Amino acid sequence: MPSKASIRFPRSFFMHKSGKIILYFIGIFLLFLLYATTGILGLKINAVNNFATLIWLPSGISLAAMILTGYKIAPAVFAGALVVNVMTGASIPIAFNIAIGNTLEALSAVYLLEKSGFQFDLSRLRDVLLLVLLAAPFGAFLAACIGTSSLVLGKVIPISAFYSTWQAWFIGDFISMIVISPFILTWTTKRPFSLPTIQRSLEIFCLILFTSLLGFTIFQNHFTASIKAPIIYLVFLPILWAALRFGQRAAITITCIISVFAIVATIQGIGPYAIGETSDNLLMLQLFMAVTTVTAIILAAVNMERKAYEERKDEFIGLAAHELKTPITTVKVFTQMLEKISNKKSKNSLYLKKINREIDKLTRLITDLLDISRIQGGALKFSYEYFPLIPKMTDVIDSIEKTTNREITFSYNTSQTQRHIYADKERFDQVLTNLLTNAIKYSPKGKIIASVTFLPAEVIISVKDFGIGIATKHHKKIFSRYFRSPDNVNQTYPGLGIGLYISSVIVKAHRGKLWFRSKKGKGSVFFVSFPLQG
Ligand code: ADP
Repeated sequence: MPSKASIRFPRSFFMHKSGKIILYFIGIFLLFLLYATTGILGLKINAVNNFATLIWLPSGISLAAMILTGYKIAPAVFAGALVVNVMTGASIPIAFNIAIGNTLEALSAVYLLEKSGFQFDLSRLRDVLLLVLLAAPFGAFLAACIGTSSLVLGKVIPISAFYSTWQAWFIGDFISMIVISPFILTWTTKRPFSLPTIQRSLEIFCLILFTSLLGFTIFQNHFTASIKAPIIYLVFLPILWAALRFGQRAAITITCIISVFAIVATIQGIGPYAIGETSDNLLMLQLFMAVTTVTAIILAAVNMERKAYEERKDEFIGLAAHELKTPITTVKVFTQMLEKISNKKSKNSLYLKKINREIDKLTRLITDLLDISRIQGGALKFSYEYFPLIPKMTDVIDSIEKTTNREITFSYNTSQTQRHIYADKERFDQVLTNLLTNAIKYSPKGKIIASVTFLPAEVIISVKDFGIGIATKHHKKIFSRYFRSPDNVNQTYPGLGIGLYISSVIVKAHRGKLWFRSKKGKGSVFFVSFPLQG
């Protein structure tokens, strides 16, 4: 799970050691350099009335830097903005005013976020909304108003140019804060490091390749006017892929990659947004990228939130099951003691037997719940050993017959009673018990037949019943977590829909197979196979 760091504002920096002061000045200088170079670059690429640009990275950089390190880096923002504007040709007083606006932009945005309890990993929907609907528009509005007014009052631009300048200023800053800041923030969020699996690495590679190919195809081509509009929507494909499969960091990274393709092409005068003047094209493109980015980060946040809820739910189930296990074990011990000392023919003994049977059911349920949370946490442990299969099955069948008062026919080849399998004995017991108790539960009457067949490379165990069966349309979902066929739910058979899921995980870990054949109203046969070693 990503760390949930909130904005922290450390105590005054100057109260710390000299080393930290040097570090602070180095940080300020680096941020100043980054701010000034990206700012000058943005204004060089495309400036509206010289001072406003649609590609304004500094706003996003300074917002992220201030969120991560605190208000103390404000001087770097101020100095950076001052230098950029002086170098662009503004007089010192005008550049000073603009720099105040730019610094206030970051300060006000961070202040609003801090007051609203913002978490910078953007894994909650509320954090994304706070950034997109509150902090970024407010900060951009402030900077655009102060900056454009300064230019008009200083007679650098005529009043007629106010709106076009203000618009470019606002959009450039806003886009920067919703694209660049999340990019920096999500990449600086500490997460527990784990190497991705081969499949995951392959998927990441395919995602990046797909994004690059798509970006190149969409933006480096001259399309006819009729295809320009629909083709641009293809960018949602990799964005949705990233948001749903990998989360916030990937969603925003893919958006950034697409933005680079889009901006470079539009400036070159190619791609779907090469329609009119470069600044008009960039304006249209930036509006589209704003919608795309907001969609991506909202989707990723909603998805991450859903996953976090699921994790918490599984954690709770595990915890509750763990807490329940101790008292149940104690009750079981005392009932067994009472059973031992009570008269075998008395009614008390009968009641105690029944209590014992129910405790066993409860224990199985709790074990299943614990297993569910262990599977989710990847902590289902196995201890493998060789054991004779048929005697083990006989034990399990005997104990189920005793507790359920149902007869189970067990068919096997007597010459094979000493054949061993290599498995976790307890987990094997769990799988077989699940199949047999299901057969009993879902066939209130009729025979239950268990059988074993040894093949050269594997052993196949089957459990057959003549009960309610499973409708074909539900076959695919039977091994899914929490799935219960609506047919038996309607007939109120108790259960949680986790037994077969756990069994399938156990069998898979043994490199075996679990499958079934079933017809509604006719009964079912469940098969489980285990490989035979050596
Ligand atoms: P539970 O029995 O607690 O619901 P399981 O995971 O063991 O959970 O089984 C999942 C679902 O598969 C059951 O709810 C039932 O719909 C179906 N099922 C399993 N075994 C049988 C069976 N022998 N006959 C009919 N339906 C079955």
